[in-house]
Amino acid sequence: MRGAVFVGEGEIEVRDLADPRAENPDDVVISVAANGICGSDLRALTTPPQMIYETGVVIGHEFVGVVTEVGSGVTETEVGQRVTAVPNINCQTCWYCRSGNVNLCENFVHIGSMRNGGAAGYVVVPERLVVPVPDSLSDKMATLVEPLACVLNGTRSAAIHPGETVVVLGGGAIGMLYAMIFGGAGAQVIISEPGEKRAELAKELELGTVVNPLEQDVGEVVRDVTDGRGADISADTVGMLLGDAVSYVRKGGKVLMFGLNDLARADLSISDIVYRELHLHGVYIGKGTFPLAVDLLDQNRIGFDRLLTHSFDLEDSTSAIEAARTGEAVKAVIVPS
Ligand SMILES: [Zn+2]
Ligand SMILES: [Zn+2]
Repeated sequence: MRGAVFVGEGEIEVRDLADPRAENPDDVVISVAANGICGSDLRALTTPPQMIYETGVVIGHEFVGVVTEVGSGVTETEVGQRVTAVPNINCQTCWYCRSGNVNLCENFVHIGSMRNGGAAGYVVVPERLVVPVPDSLSDKMATLVEPLACVLNGTRSAAIHPGETVVVLGGGAIGMLYAMIFGGAGAQVIISEPGEKRAELAKELELGTVVNPLEQDVGEVVRDVTDGRGADISADTVGMLLGDAVSYVRKGGKVLMFGLNDLARADLSISDIVYRELHLHGVYIGKGTFPLAVDLLDQNRIGFDRLLTHSFDLEDSTSAIEAARTGEAVKAVIVPS
């Protein structure tokens, strides 16, 4: 098979690799139909890297495909079935796994950064992480299951109420998904996005008030629509805007920290958080949210399909990453030929 391998120094290379087989009893081999490029892939490809991926690993954790082989111990999953998967292999035995906080596992093996992922002809996952995809959900739409599952972990912890005001920082696929879910739940949404293409799409999708932070004072826009108080909730989907996210919420407001950048540090007033009794929530990957993500995408009442702006052949993986990096694409998908 061919696969897009992270070779270090901010580079990937599409290489010939051995076709993987079901070596463990619980292995499920999936012939990949599509794989989404994630913000974290872009973070791993900066110099210095803003996220650590192991070199020599096939990238990709937002994949969908058809099962072509199963191990001897696989009981529910069948050859020919269309599936996606939770791309984070938890250990099931550490304190966090045992206490139901499976997204905080101490011994995670992440598919697409620690072992081979979905930007390839085939990917192998343990059966317990397989998520069936209904026939009514297209391959490309199914690549949004993982990112949406992560977003739903955040929106659930925000416990939004209709009529509340939310400011979403960043209009990439994750920012748009946040805006869609918050808006769908009845919130008044403000999206801050400097990229023209993404801002345009957010406007077309009527996701809320779209603000260019390079041209307008986002805080002023937020205060204008909230009688000067500030938003009930802010969400930093970029991973380095915590100071801004804190400044945009009202007293007692919630700040969701979602975007990941290992190099980012915050410059903010700690006493401001105390005086105003703010709630800061870190949101890390999905947590029991995959089934709901599948259902929401399958219903497609919010126009999720519009986020899938670009599609590239696997051989063109570098272009896919470039399109995502420049903001030309909202969600770029790689399709193995
Ligand atoms: Zn992702
Ligand atoms: Zn664990």
